[in-house]
Amino acid sequence: MSLRDLACGRCEHSHDPHQPQGVCTACGGPLLARYDIGAETVPLTTVLGRVPGQVRCPETYPTNAGGTTPTLGEGATPLVPGGRLADALRIPRLLVKDEAQNPTGSFKSRGMAAAMARAAELGLATVCLPSAGNAGGAAAAYGALHGIRVVIYLPDSTPAAIDRECQDLGADVVRVPGTIADAGHALAAARTDDWFSLATLREPYRVEGKKVMGYELLYDLGSLPDVILYPTGGGTGLVGMWKAFDEMQALGWIGDERPRMVCVQTAGCAPMVRAFEQELDTAPAWENAEPTTAFGLRVPGALGDFLILRALRASNGTAIAIGEPAMADDTSAIATQLGLHSSPEGGACVAAARQLRESGWIGETDVVVIFNTGHALKYL
Ligand SMILES: [Zn+2]
Repeated sequence: MSLRDLACGRCEHSHDPHQPQGVCTACGGPLLARYDIGAETVPLTTVLGRVPGQVRCPETYPTNAGGTTPTLGEGATPLVPGGRLADALRIPRLLVKDEAQNPTGSFKSRGMAAAMARAAELGLATVCLPSAGNAGGAAAAYGALHGIRVVIYLPDSTPAAIDRECQDLGADVVRVPGTIADAGHALAAARTDDWFSLATLREPYRVEGKKVMGYELLYDLGSLPDVILYPTGGGTGLVGMWKAFDEMQALGWIGDERPRMVCVQTAGCAPMVRAFEQELDTAPAWENAEPTTAFGLRVPGALGDFLILRALRASNGTAIAIGEPAMADDTSAIATQLGLHSSPEGGACVAAARQLRESGWIGETDVVVIFNTGHALKYL
């Protein structure tokens, strides 16, 4: 482990990584881990010789335990070839990164694996978070693994399966009317000083778990894809992958090439898409976010908005909002034409790929990676 410090993503103010840290003490921005790494740190071939999994590269993982960090088997999810779905979309080199195959059935396993391991190493006894669903289940699971009490505030629209999951895994669950923002406000009112917040980008380590998705694309493909379509709520994964590419360049594994990043949201809650189109540096909160089957995308405002928008622009990427009917159609398409029982968020990315291929933004020879972030069974 070569964790150096935690630097604010906005003002770069440095924070001690050996103490529990939330947001930047100077400006309230999200903190990002920095490592002492360089081209001599570890060759890619060495990392490729290790057992696949979340901590395949402990040189850029934040835990003291590194390769012996307790695990539920998260990470190393497959890149599924697009098959008949690829034919239908006219994107021959389509791949689906199936994050549903993580231990809690969603990509949230990754961030919580890192954050909860770090919480245990820092001696935290109780953590709390508002969640639109899948993050809550993952927090409960990794809290159980590490013996940390987890308090979860869920919007009351959260599927019963996730409520059950959180409770079965031993978390304290409170349901709140409204969106994840409302759940966050209720939690803030109830929270005591000894409850450490694991809310999205309000602590520095969930993004460190999520970034591994970016590393795995290089491990599996040998180079980065041309286009990444990512369903974006809080955006930790998009921010994390963008960070991973910079780290991999510092390690000497890649050059300055980057995939074009596509932020996918729902038409009823699209703060990033609006801000991208209006060429803003931050995203004003979306008023009256509409209910959606893709509950992970019902996030009216994101603390890392400026990091998401920065990555989209630096990558020559774009942002696209998908309506509920198109999302439903393509959630069905990925199931019936590929065999993945995908979350609606995955379906939204298929719909986005379809539209961007039709407009010519995605070319026929592009290597395109869609992220399916969760399993459909969690949405029942
Ligand atoms: Zn700051």
